[in-house]
Amino acid sequence: MNTAEVLALKEILSTPKNVVIVPHKNPDGDAMGSTLGLYHYLKKLGHSATVIAPNDYPEFLKWIPGTNEVLIHEMQTNKAEALLTQADLIFTLDFNALHRCGAMETPIKNATAIKVMIDHHQQPDAYATFVYSDVSMCSTCEMVYHFIDKMGDLDQIDVPIGEALYTGIMTDTASFRFPLTTSTTHRVIAHLIDVGVDNSTIHNAVYDTNSFSRLQLMGCALNNLKYIEDSHTAYISLSTNELGTHNFQKGDTEGLVNYGLSLKGAKFAVIFIEHQQEGIIKISFRSKGTFDVNAFARTHFDGGGHKNASGGRSYSESRRYHCKIY
Ligand code: 5GP
Ligand code: MN
Repeated sequence: MNTAEVLALKEILSTPKNVVIVPHKNPDGDAMGSTLGLYHYLKKLGHSATVIAPNDYPEFLKWIPGTNEVLIHEMQTNKAEALLTQADLIFTLDFNALHRCGAMETPIKNATAIKVMIDHHQQPDAYATFVYSDVSMCSTCEMVYHFIDKMGDLDQIDVPIGEALYTGIMTDTASFRFPLTTSTTHRVIAHLIDVGVDNSTIHNAVYDTNSFSRLQLMGCALNNLKYIEDSHTAYISLSTNELGTHNFQKGDTEGLVNYGLSLKGAKFAVIFIEHQQEGIIKISFRSKGTFDVNAFARTHFDGGGHKNASGGRSYSESRRYHCKIY
């Protein structure tokens, strides 16, 4: 967004508007943190705002302030679509293409609202009037912070906004360790702590609330870990059966792929998760260094994401699925 666009958006937001804020399907910490952070900010400015998630999200994010006001399109379709039709503005956060919000794609396309994209994924589609896209950003949550700054409103940041934004910066950087974590990221975090965000409480709420069965599922995943030394590739698989045995709940497999990358020498890590009901195998890719897993996922697995973290899927029939990684 250039200065003229920032000013134009500021002008639009100078009078109360009906706003809908949308994260991607299967929302993660960054998707829910950024949408709820923006939600609290826009409410403070006097707008009527609603976060509509395409489908449900993990329990470990359901403490973020504003969670009780989130609508789930999959469960409250009529109400959600009425709000989309009436909206003056639709913000789409943490995704680069409308198909990433599943069944919300068509109602968003059909809505007459002005669309605003805030996102850090590669190759953004051109569906929004206002596009704030920056692939150098560690998280959409950090971008929402900079967006509030561009609007000249940093002094509006309070604990609810700060807690939401802190969450996504923490989860998308895997606790401030991925390479896109910059000194600016740490300055943003420092400001959030200064306004009263309790970093330790948030870490605890997200990472130290595992169920017993989730830890056992993790054990199963680690047991299935394989390593191909020649190509520095670590991969994990989880079948529908294994997920069922360990009482799989939404979010339970989040972050497991990173364990592969923690293996000494590993440069490429993959997790294959069988979704028998949907007839797909969901695949997550992570890399260290120059190997571009965004391009890899786009080329071979109908996916995308970032250079070092991406996702995709295989439609090959479950169980008869073969993937040759190099
Ligand atoms: P995950 O492996 O955790 O599902 O996703 C890793 C990153 O890639 C996230 O930033 C996620 O939003 C993105 N991603 C996952 N699947 C897809 C996909 O199918 N298309 C695109 N464009 N990005 C994806
Ligand atoms: Mn993100």
